Amino acid sequence: MGIKEKLVLPVAKRWISGADLHAAMEDAKDANSRGMGVVVNFLGEEITDQVAADAQVDEYLRLQQALCDGGVRGFASVKLTQLGMGSDDGAMGRRLDKVLEGAERLAQLLWIDMESSLSTEKTVSTYLDAHSSHPGLGVAIQAYARRSETDMKLILDQGGMVRLVKGAYREGPDFAFPTRAEISKSYERLMASLFERGEGFAIATHDGALIERAKALAESSHAKFRFEFLKGVRDELKTDLVKSGYAVSEYLPYGSQWWAYSKRRIAEHPSNVWLLLRSVV
Ligand SMILES: Cc1cc2nc3c(=O)[nH]c(=O)nc-3n(C[C@H](O)[C@H](O)[C@H](O)COP(=O)(O)OP(=O)(O)OC[C@H]3O[C@@H](n4cnc5c(N)ncnc54)[C@H](O)[C@@H]3O)c2cc1C
Repeated sequence: MGIKEKLVLPVAKRWISGADLHAAMEDAKDANSRGMGVVVNFLGEEITDQVAADAQVDEYLRLQQALCDGGVRGFASVKLTQLGMGSDDGAMGRRLDKVLEGAERLAQLLWIDMESSLSTEKTVSTYLDAHSSHPGLGVAIQAYARRSETDMKLILDQGGMVRLVKGAYREGPDFAFPTRAEISKSYERLMASLFERGEGFAIATHDGALIERAKALAESSHAKFRFEFLKGVRDELKTDLVKSGYAVSEYLPYGSQWWAYSKRRIAEHPSNVWLLLRSVV
């Protein structure tokens, strides 16, 4: 581990369950005991080595089995570049099939995280293709992406499941709305169509105004949905929503490849830079 990683690790622990599956299961059981479901992600992205990509499948199968054996209320979420997307798409498809079969054998859902704009097109088309024979598959859609309205329509036309997020990657204005106001407006538009036409979707934001908007939309909708939060962010709000009777899940990443994920968490909120500084001085 380099010096940079060593300095960030104490702060990163806030968002990461730990290095191994055991740590993730401990957090998952704890979240369940607090009335929340879980979405568990084995950290990894942009894997080009085929042996390493095969090993990701093995870990996801272990994770699904552990969720089942532990009686945990939750499921896995995977990144397609960790299954080799971009280096061998055929092999990635076969790996995704294996993880999907693992989920179906245990009657679990499976979700696909959305990554940077370099992989959006392939992620959406892979999702639509796989979902046609695996209805328990969902995908994240990013409100900052200009194309998301079109993608969402295609997904909802097919009866797909969406996790709506703002978007976590650094993108240019051609791909993404550049201002917070435009991203929030886009989130509101996409959320309205989810409450109109979606089922089993997730409102995955920590933004209080958007959460209030979702609660208002839920009053006049029969759609089944849940709020989803990241581990380590807005814990009091999670508890309040559970107490008010909303379905809530916590996203729990684990594994040794925590650096890229943690950089995104630090970048998205200035208070995290202070946390980081306080931990090293
Ligand atoms: C369950 C879940 C799954 C996700 N999956 C994906 C995915 O697949 N692809 C993707 O691109 N993005 C994903 N994201 C991340 C998402 O895109 C945003 O980057 C992240 O949620 C921050 O945006 P926000 O909607 O919370 O709004 P923001 O406006 O960023 O935050 C609203 C408020 O929440 C709090 N907050 C937010 N983030 C932090 C933080 N890191 N530390 C401390 N406080 C914070 C602050 O109080 C802030 O004012 C996911 C998010 C969640 C909750």
